Amino acid sequence: MAIGLGHSIREIGAWLGISGYLRFPENQFVRYLAIDSRTLNHPEETMFFALKDKRDGHDFIPAAYAAGLRFFVVSESYKLVQDNFPDAYFLVVKDTLIALQLIARQHRQAFKLPVIGITGSNGKTLVKEWLYQLLQGEEQVRRSPKSFNSQIGVALSVWEIQAGDTLGIFEAGISKRKEMEALRDMIQPSIGVLTHMGDAHQSGFSSMEEKLKEKLKLFDGVETFIYSPAFIPNHFKETLPGQHKFTWLLDEKGEADLKVQQLSVNEGMAELMMTYKAEVVIIKLPFQDLASLENLAICLATLLVLKFKLPEAVQKLKFLHPVSMRMTLVKGFNDCSIIDDTYSSDLDSLKIAIDFLKQQKQHPKHSLILSEVLESGLAAEVLYSQIANLIKQNEIDRFIGVGPIISAHAQLFPKSAVFFESTEALLEQLDALHFAKESILIKGARRFGLERITALLSAKAHDTVLEINLRALNDNLQAYRRLLQPGVKLMAMVKAFSYGSGSYEIANLLSFQKVDYLTVAYADEGVQLRQSGIKLPIMVMSPEPNAFQLMWDYKLEPEIYSLDLLAVYLQFLKLNGISDKDRKLVPIHLKLDTGMHRLGFEAHHISALKALLKDNPALQVKSIFTHLVAADEAVHDDFTHLQIERYQKMYEDIITVLDDKPLRHVLNTAGIARFPKAQFDMVRLGIGLYGLGNDFKGAEELQSVLEWKTTISQIKQLEAGETVGYGRSGKITRPTLLATVKVGYADGYSRKFGNGQGKMRIQGCEVPTLGSICMDMCMLDITALAERAITVKPGDEVVIFDSSDTIRQLAAQLDTIPYEIVCNISQRVKRVYYYE
Ligand SMILES: *Cc1c(COP(=O)(O)O)cnc(C)c1O
Repeated sequence: MAIGLGHSIREIGAWLGISGYLRFPENQFVRYLAIDSRTLNHPEETMFFALKDKRDGHDFIPAAYAAGLRFFVVSESYKLVQDNFPDAYFLVVKDTLIALQLIARQHRQAFKLPVIGITGSNGKTLVKEWLYQLLQGEEQVRRSPKSFNSQIGVALSVWEIQAGDTLGIFEAGISKRKEMEALRDMIQPSIGVLTHMGDAHQSGFSSMEEKLKEKLKLFDGVETFIYSPAFIPNHFKETLPGQHKFTWLLDEKGEADLKVQQLSVNEGMAELMMTYKAEVVIIKLPFQDLASLENLAICLATLLVLKFKLPEAVQKLKFLHPVSMRMTLVKGFNDCSIIDDTYSSDLDSLKIAIDFLKQQKQHPKHSLILSEVLESGLAAEVLYSQIANLIKQNEIDRFIGVGPIISAHAQLFPKSAVFFESTEALLEQLDALHFAKESILIKGARRFGLERITALLSAKAHDTVLEINLRALNDNLQAYRRLLQPGVKLMAMVKAFSYGSGSYEIANLLSFQKVDYLTVAYADEGVQLRQSGIKLPIMVMSPEPNAFQLMWDYKLEPEIYSLDLLAVYLQFLKLNGISDKDRKLVPIHLKLDTGMHRLGFEAHHISALKALLKDNPALQVKSIFTHLVAADEAVHDDFTHLQIERYQKMYEDIITVLDDKPLRHVLNTAGIARFPKAQFDMVRLGIGLYGLGNDFKGAEELQSVLEWKTTISQIKQLEAGETVGYGRSGKITRPTLLATVKVGYADGYSRKFGNGQGKMRIQGCEVPTLGSICMDMCMLDITALAERAITVKPGDEVVIFDSSDTIRQLAAQLDTIPYEIVCNISQRVKRVYYYE
């Protein structure tokens, strides 16, 4: 990834303090950096950093070498066998991440350009993208791709600065103390922008103030610091960074250089008054939620700092458009899967999107509809030959190019590729292309309006959707992985439709991230995963005898929890001609009951179990496990330890009759965080993946994965004395504005949420239910919206929950646990997956 100016390998050796760097070849240049073995376009000019991040990057070295890479930065602990890589150069360092950051810093120092550094708890990526939209014509802007704001992301972003760039815009994100210093040293901002600071608790920090203090470190040494006093406690004000300060305030009393006031809102347009140094401009803009208005104010403040005049800067705001970094995955017609990424078009985001396309195993066929890639800074010939290479390397089965320039380079692409001069031309021919049973990535610059293609190919969106953030799910997976001892395997629990989140969509991601095992509750869930191309080993927790054949055919591995079940299974095997001669042919898992008293062998079953195992060498015990009853509750820790002890005893006893040692596993989500000593050979991660772990003591906080949304069907104005809904339980005592929304108890929205118990949100404003919840819909009292001059109409979005916290609140209200809330969301609620 990343194109740089190029530095010689000698120079990099010197920076990293590699002894003997002078023996490196003099005229070898490094222009690209890689951290995994995917999509390497110029292996001979790429340097590979073996990072210990999500996975140990050292594992990718053989593949990267085979792809032609010759420069590797590896850690001291790596057992290098140079004979395997005869002509490669290995730069051995203590810490490969620090090495990567060091060369990013050196690269950054080679350029004198002004750089805007952005941090805060919300809105970083949005502000970065908006500033890019605003300044693009005036400057040659280099910015972080997507939300690359981490310790690695910033290094890769900064490396992209090239000769000719006149402005850099980079975002920095941290999750714990002592992370910002490294980001600051790489970004070296001259202008600092602090975005919204939320008061959400973050486990990496001891307090809000500490979080703010750490974030402010990005701005040490900036010329100008742009912030809102609303986010800064008074006693901080003496010690703020920046030779100059520029302050802004939204709708608040107080002093600030720039004040933005919302005069009115109508039909989605806000009328705003901007005041700067006795100058006033009033303008209507198509944004009205608080977050967008804050981000608008921040962008305007930045333009003013960059010496634009107020009227000119305000005019520019008119051209802002909403930013979506979202790549969504939805079901399409003719059994297709549609990946919609029609908001951005640059090489990096294309690579990310192609990776995502290739993860989709549910259809063997992968197709790509791509518009011209704009603003790459490359000559068309170079650009499209790179893209054609990507298509070939990734074995895209069907390629469709849209636009005159890409069409003019058709000869670079595989012969089967099809081209259209315009989106309109493609639209006309869409039926003739006969899309069926394939995964289709639709990717392109906004200007081409490829979302029209998405709309035609995807099944009509329902009005009530459960959105699943795959990036957050992936981050949660990695957060738990970091808690594992080296070598401990991970089993991901995808039972009950992945806790309500989906089936193959989640399994594809888990399989791409190389978890070791998947677990489902019933055989049919496993069959569905196999039919969608999932190759991982799959354990079935409730194997029913009438599904044994199916499980056998689809290579699903049963959990055996009783002598009876084992006897029936052995009988099934015998009937199918499996005999004692077929040694270790039949994988099974043994569940031990150490205190749950649900399923599992108890201590007094063990001798009979041993006898059966001994007599049936065709069985291969893959794992022996137990389940903790209260891993999340400190009051029961003694019992947890007792369970672990009982488990170990039973395990040791069973293996006396086995030739090898089956995998041991005990811990669920809460256990992983709370009983690190009991990780044994594998752990079973469930609810934590979905962002709902209880007691997570890891470094980062878990991210919310799920958002449940519906829409307004009708709005009514009612007078006092009327009632709403069945049984007249919703009494109207004052003039009331009412909205009927498309979610009811058949969707999983409990009747207990009726009569004001449940709250939803419309444009950030909380509104209660009114009357009882019906089967397919319910009513909300939205009078509060009218009081705040917010207008809504049928079709507008209503949020049922949008974070793990709101899911926990709903669970608490019903006196249940988050698991039940999410598993109850009916299958008729359409799942939309996105990646950002
Ligand atoms: C569901 C389940 C898990 C996962 O539990 P979480 O609390 O969701 O992590 C682990 N083991 C077994 C046997 C389970 O049934």
